Amino acid sequence: MSAPVLQLDKVCIRYPGAPADAVRGVSFDLRRGETLGLVGESGSGKSTLAAATMGLLPAGTAVQGAIRFEGRALFSEITDQQLRRLRGRRIGTISQDPFTALNPVMRIGTQLDALLHWTHDRPKKDRMARIETMLERVGLSDPKVRMAQYPHQMSGGILQRISIAAAMLAEPTLLIADEPTTALDATTEAQILGIMAEAKATLDGATLFITHDMSVVERLCDRIAVLYAGELVETGTVREVLDAPQHPYTRALLDCDPARITEPTRRLPTIEGTVPPIHKRPDGCIFAPRCPAAIARCHAEAPERHELGPRRSAACHLASPTPVTP
Ligand code: SF4
Ligand code: MG
Repeated sequence: MSAPVLQLDKVCIRYPGAPADAVRGVSFDLRRGETLGLVGESGSGKSTLAAATMGLLPAGTAVQGAIRFEGRALFSEITDQQLRRLRGRRIGTISQDPFTALNPVMRIGTQLDALLHWTHDRPKKDRMARIETMLERVGLSDPKVRMAQYPHQMSGGILQRISIAAAMLAEPTLLIADEPTTALDATTEAQILGIMAEAKATLDGATLFITHDMSVVERLCDRIAVLYAGELVETGTVREVLDAPQHPYTRALLDCDPARITEPTRRLPTIEGTVPPIHKRPDGCIFAPRCPAAIARCHAEAPERHELGPRRSAACHLASPTPVTP
């Protein structure tokens, strides 16, 4: 079997001058054809992990453990310079804010052409045709008009379509989308998610989808990794985790998902308390101060990661494999 597209092995990340790690001991892998939803509240470490994978951590950040792209370790086997070349070519990114992803003083067509010229050395005529096709594929019916425009002439939703097209033009092996619909209204969000679903289906690679929204995960992802305060608390297939969550934090996230609340009058529940700051992690289980299921042991002893099946685990004292109903 070929190496996973992305593999994290006990990754710890500490920002320069920080009193503690922002990410602690995170391991998971992502294989060709898969979409992994990386989920957690803000401060859970998801954007830090994405930045690390893209080689975009601030200078002086300490990374321990291994992050491997197609079997080769970033920072040791892949140099910074090589990683810069991979980014945009083999690693595509879609950010929260499409305005920052595009150059404000260049026409869209010029930018996309420069990108395609850099990633795939094709004749100009072929490049233009490919850009037009890609813009149509992300739902823009007037590609020639869009190519002649500047970013400020478009809405956030149109720009996000263009940045998806830009990421897809390179035919990346790994596509990283960091909350790509956060800045958009609900209707535009639904359209963009539809485009993302099509985009990932045409990709000959894997997608890492960062979100705090469980219904987005359910719609777009095959696998899920739930982060809490910089630690991986649960992972598995979307069906395994959403149908039978084993970690109380995963259950709490699901309980707060508006899409899952069936009684219309019920107030939207929230998880009480906040994610602890990295330098004030509680003793024992990191989730214990907020956990409705906590027992005495939880406050004294941090849980091990319980292996519940192939590529399925939860870090909770109470986790147990779901019994198979005959
Ligand atoms: Fe809750 Fe205890 Fe499990 Fe932590 S180990 S999530 S406190 S039940
Ligand atoms: Mg973030």
